[in-house]
Amino acid sequence: MAAPVTLQGIIQDIVDEMRAAPDRGKVATYIPSLAKVDPARFGMAVYTVDGECHAGGDDEVGFSIQSISKVFSLTLALGKAGDQLWERVGREPSGTAFNSIVQLEAERGIPRNPFINAGAIVVTDVNLAGHPPREAIGELVQLVRYLAEDESIAINEEVARSEERTGERNRALAHFMKSYGVLRHAPDLVLGTYFHACAIEMTCRQLAAAGRYLMLDGRHPGGGRTISSIRARRILSLMLTCGHYDASGDIAFRVGIPAKSGVGGGILAIVPGRASIAVWSPGLNANGNSQLGSLALERLAEATGWSLFNPGRLSDR
Ligand code: GLN
Repeated sequence: MAAPVTLQGIIQDIVDEMRAAPDRGKVATYIPSLAKVDPARFGMAVYTVDGECHAGGDDEVGFSIQSISKVFSLTLALGKAGDQLWERVGREPSGTAFNSIVQLEAERGIPRNPFINAGAIVVTDVNLAGHPPREAIGELVQLVRYLAEDESIAINEEVARSEERTGERNRALAHFMKSYGVLRHAPDLVLGTYFHACAIEMTCRQLAAAGRYLMLDGRHPGGGRTISSIRARRILSLMLTCGHYDASGDIAFRVGIPAKSGVGGGILAIVPGRASIAVWSPGLNANGNSQLGSLALERLAEATGWSLFNPGRLSDR
């Protein structure tokens, strides 16, 4: 009789396949600190709704979460501004690169969605309201620690400084939006906070732990509510439609699970009511998403049957 399929076995098969994969994509170099990361790395962690964590590969190695921080920044900003946030940032897929400026002029400085750089810069501006800058970033780190139930999570200051030195494109986006009055604070202040948010470092285990509130319809795994059910649903909807920039449609097609990527090579993916998944492989494809991270999610979705569109369980297959 064949051995039963287990989640741990599925993860191990994926880790083995990804370790041997010849085409690993290219590590981001426009942030010099990220260029130093070893492209051979691959890690994966899955928290299931019963509280178990299954993991493999480099699941305990820290990496720069980069744009995955946009999920946590949005969570914080919705708590502060509520639906008024949507007056300053849209919720449509952009169909353009993560750092694109093209739509901003035609759309009078309002970014398409909170998961492209321009949108996250506006979200950061919202989170700065009523705070000295150090407190605003501190609040975000506190939120992530609370969600992951892990006080050791911190910012990698070297990565933040590295991006600060080379962040001309983000500076252009921020000044352009400031010219339309969409930003309330000084661009340099907003960008300093944004770069630090991107430089939060986490392992796959920590990131999957931090994502559990989205798996749990907005509830904290320790009990109580982090955000309302409707906000959790909206964040997940945006992850599905906008989480991978101009490849969001392709990822929805291939994986069918809401997910957010970052140029550090990480991806956070959520199967509502079922699993919070983090994968990390630093090499990126042409859209700036993790090459093997995307493939690993595709493999996981195939092997488990998990998707937004299939209510079946692993054990029902
Ligand atoms: N810090 C990066 C930037 O602003 C984040 C981009 C990303 O992860 N896609 O360029």
